[in-house]
Amino acid sequence: MLMVTREIPAELAAWLAESLKEEYEPFQQSIQEDPVIGLRTNPAKSYPIPWATRPVPWHPNGYFLDVRPGFTLDPGFHAGAYYVQDPATMAIYSTLKDALQGGPKRILDLCAAPGGKSTLIASLLRSDDILLANEVAPQRYHILLENLTKWGIPNVLTLSTAPEQLQSACPAAFDVILVDAPCSGEGMFRKEPVALEQWSTGLVRQCALRQEKILDSAWELLAPGGLLIYSTCTFNHFENMDQMDRILGRITNATPVHIQEHVSGISRIDTDAAIGYQCWPHRVSGEGFFFAALKKSENLHHSSRKKSRPLPKIHSSMAKELAHHITNYQSQSALVHNHFLYAVPAIQLDFISMLLQHFPKTEPVACLGQWIGNQIKPHPALALSTSYGGSYPDLELELEQALAFLAQQALPIQASSGWLRVTYQGLGLGWVKSVGGRLNNYHPKHWRIRHLPRDME
Ligand code: SAM
Repeated sequence: MLMVTREIPAELAAWLAESLKEEYEPFQQSIQEDPVIGLRTNPAKSYPIPWATRPVPWHPNGYFLDVRPGFTLDPGFHAGAYYVQDPATMAIYSTLKDALQGGPKRILDLCAAPGGKSTLIASLLRSDDILLANEVAPQRYHILLENLTKWGIPNVLTLSTAPEQLQSACPAAFDVILVDAPCSGEGMFRKEPVALEQWSTGLVRQCALRQEKILDSAWELLAPGGLLIYSTCTFNHFENMDQMDRILGRITNATPVHIQEHVSGISRIDTDAAIGYQCWPHRVSGEGFFFAALKKSENLHHSSRKKSRPLPKIHSSMAKELAHHITNYQSQSALVHNHFLYAVPAIQLDFISMLLQHFPKTEPVACLGQWIGNQIKPHPALALSTSYGGSYPDLELELEQALAFLAQQALPIQASSGWLRVTYQGLGLGWVKSVGGRLNNYHPKHWRIRHLPRDME
């Protein structure tokens, strides 16, 4: 096998040698190794992972894999049974878990695509919590929505807007905010060769400026008493500790948060003001990951949460549809938006209506279907939802049939007429409608598997 030598740019090598000292050599060696492969299973979807795995000690659903399998050809991947994720990034798990204690929480993942951290947060939500997963880049928004829809946790909303827009619409609205910032990606050198090719001191400066702006908005979006978690996949202090120092030097109601160090090998970084945590690839099995948390004090100003206008009255037929299609309907309220019927946590309805008024393109993940004449045409999200109530018959498929369904091919199967939920090993994948002895495939075109193995085409 051809060995590729990854050469760390000279300026970066000098910065890292200064901070790592005698550990610089093992770090440099670790950069030459293959990236670590990991996944996190969905605790709400039971599925036997078809490859050998070893547990990630710092996340109850995290696993290492020794080789990278072809995930695309495993229907479990498309059913949201697991998310492929760098184990180092799972280090924020316990911080998020602790942050979600107490009463209902509104959580914002401000830089969310493709959705790795959002799916991690979604699995921690209780029935009255809500997660808003936002991604500013329209071309990255769709994969975020797809991943969260497949993950299937209902109390999640997605949005594509700039942090400043969100800040002016709903200041002080969120109890927990994650800023997993766009960065120079020094921690991704093994996984994404382009990060190494594109690295420059100019890029670091540019990223740091962008991070400042995002963090300033995030701070304004945070409710009194709330927690801001900041993370990057880079190593330099300009994008990491300097960002925390800057906020703490400028804002009086911010305090750094000490985090229980559950991840063996993680390095704590202290400056005069801030505390941060770094996963180095030579110390923690994973890629490079930095995070820190800041708490906003409770009492400095009143919440400026905006009041929303009342929503239109819900028709009793909608409430009936909820009870028919989902298991958690008692804590949910029906919402019709752009002719689609959604289920949202009743306790968060005011806030969601305010969001929809400001950002009509906000999409609650729990879409039951298109609302046509007091009935629904089921939406793919309903088949994938962890609160799906079994309102249609299931059509369980074998591996090859499931892949054919996911590739949007015809299924030569006889079935009773009407809507059927397609399942693989009991997990929902999507819908077919049996009409006149044939099955119409309703798997979304933009989700389809494009390349099946030759013998299956
Ligand atoms: N949290 C994601 C996950 O775990 O899958 C990864 C997020 S990635 C590190 C950073 C994201 O920030 C990118 O999707 C990028 O499009 C977005 N971004 C870029 N510029 C931004 C800006 N000015 N404000 C907010 N987000 C931005």
